[in-house]
Amino acid sequence: MEHDIIVLGSGPAGLAAAVAARGRDKSVLVIGNRWEDSPLARAERVDNYLGMPGRTGAQMLREFSQHAQAMGVETVTGRAIALMVYNGFYVTVGSQVYDGRALILAPGVVRQAKYPGEEEYLGRGVSYCATCDGMLYRSKPVVVVGRSPDAPLEANYLSSLGCQVTYVSSNQPKGLQEGIPFVKAGKLAVRGQGTVTALEADGVELPCAGVFILRQAVAPTDLLPQLETEEGFIKVDRHMATNVEGVFAAGDCTGGPLQVAKAVGEGHVAALSACEYLDQQEQQ
Ligand SMILES: Cc1cc2nc3c(=O)[nH]c(=O)nc-3n(C[C@H](O)[C@H](O)[C@H](O)COP(=O)(O)OP(=O)(O)OC[C@H]3O[C@@H](n4cnc5c(N)ncnc54)[C@H](O)[C@@H]3O)c2cc1C
Repeated sequence: MEHDIIVLGSGPAGLAAAVAARGRDKSVLVIGNRWEDSPLARAERVDNYLGMPGRTGAQMLREFSQHAQAMGVETVTGRAIALMVYNGFYVTVGSQVYDGRALILAPGVVRQAKYPGEEEYLGRGVSYCATCDGMLYRSKPVVVVGRSPDAPLEANYLSSLGCQVTYVSSNQPKGLQEGIPFVKAGKLAVRGQGTVTALEADGVELPCAGVFILRQAVAPTDLLPQLETEEGFIKVDRHMATNVEGVFAAGDCTGGPLQVAKAVGEGHVAALSACEYLDQQEQQ
């Protein structure tokens, strides 16, 4: 395996975990969207983090990132769209797959609600990953629901595979290839009969065989369906261990208070637990 630990999420929890794991001399890869996409980047002033009063959220994130970099943490900027568990963990970002022996989930809170029909048709026409599933829809009509900045590129990729792509979003997309029809719509629902047959966009049915829903963040339970949750948050014990062996979680994704200090503390604990897990594995 290339890395000891993969951290999913580059907010305070993920970066704190990465720094703590590097302190134990583990190799760490942080996979996360741009740090500007962390909700903390929107905080105009943070006064409740010990020793750093009066900073903007963006300043804090920059300093956290610099600390992680100085500790030798490797980073990949991008959205994790798929996760496979098989003698370790394999995380897909775009067309690349990264592997690690332990996994720390720190994706924050995924706030976007699901569309009607999305859950029902997941795996039967609904996909979150153009790279993983695009080939299945060659020469077929598909709809890309663009909710992330890289969604137009994914739509272009599907088009290059030979899919007949329609792009649906509430905003004019940037970087969408000429020739791909764009439909501006906000109220969406997936329709089907056994498998997907259409996306309903503001009351108009767009017939299709596949719907690629590309959001900024993918809920951890969509990446790892066997993950146990409680009231919508990942269930962890005091060591930040989840119910899946080798998987730990930290930060907003485990529940309130949704604050930086709690995220950082949990990230630290999750990292120490992941290191202990790896050390125990080596002794076996
Ligand atoms: C406007 C605002 C003001 C706030 N002010 C304060 C404050 O004053 N004090 C305070 O303590 N807290 C404040 N908070 C809360 C604070 O920002 C959060 O508690 C904290 O950022 C949680 O850290 P985290 O690492 O758990 O998650 P996040 O900061 O949400 O980081 C998670 C990161 O993972 C990324 N991610 C998720 N899924 C994926 C995926 N599949 N692939 C790649 N990347 C992914 C996300 O895009 C995000 O960048 C504020 C929040 C907001 C929105």
